[in-house]
Amino acid sequence: MMDGPLIALSGIERVFHLGDSEVHALRQLDLAIAAGEYVAVMGPSGSGKSTLLNLLGLLDRPNAGTYRLEGRDVTTLSPVEQARVRSERIGFVFQSFHLVPRLTAAENVALPMVLAGIPPAERQRRVECALHDYGLANRAGHRPDQLSGGQRQRVAIARATIMQPAMLLADEPTGNLDRATGEEVMRLLEELNGRGVTLIVVTHDVGLGERARRQLRMEDGWLRHDSAGDA
Ligand code: ADP
Ligand code: MG
Repeated sequence: MMDGPLIALSGIERVFHLGDSEVHALRQLDLAIAAGEYVAVMGPSGSGKSTLLNLLGLLDRPNAGTYRLEGRDVTTLSPVEQARVRSERIGFVFQSFHLVPRLTAAENVALPMVLAGIPPAERQRRVECALHDYGLANRAGHRPDQLSGGQRQRVAIARATIMQPAMLLADEPTGNLDRATGEEVMRLLEELNGRGVTLIVVTHDVGLGERARRQLRMEDGWLRHDSAGDA
């Protein structure tokens, strides 16, 4: 068992260099998130929300600072070791779904298990189960362009959770969906959180953000407000 937080960031800095100019996407960021939390990351466009999520998901590295995941410093891992942590512990859901266009729904969901070397029979069992759970059983053979936006996002959520990650990172997961479909996607994510998966959702929709039990507000690379500090 783990005593400390699931996620512990300390002194994180992320600077992008564009020609002669520097963009401080994250500044002096300290943050701890416990296992099982439901956190919304809010703030205006360009405030560093996606940069934060990408760092948490080990899709990017900070220029300074330390990231501990389940007590282990993951900042200094090699790319191969990071990929392994990502595959086993982290699920990602993006605004634009990021499905592989030429693969079917079933193949997209199976992909993380292929990469993790899970045997075909077990893969097939888990894909069938997941497609059924997400109401996609009769869409298994469809490619993304043959699915609605809501169905695509459900495939993406099935793919993100098929390895039973400790945390689910969602970057504007409802940004390309109409309100009713977005609502359905949020309910799915919240159901997963209800079953213990740590859920971190980037949104600039205040209504959606308020559903989380904890709100972080980013501004110009700074973590300006953390509702966990509210009395
Ligand atoms: P948000 O998700 O809150 O809209 P981002 O985290 O995407 O903001 O971006 C924060 C800042 O960092 C922005 O000013 C953006 O232009 C800059 N930025 C993000 N990614 C890169 C990159 N790969 N190269 C250069 N600048 C970047
Ligand atoms: Mg963003």
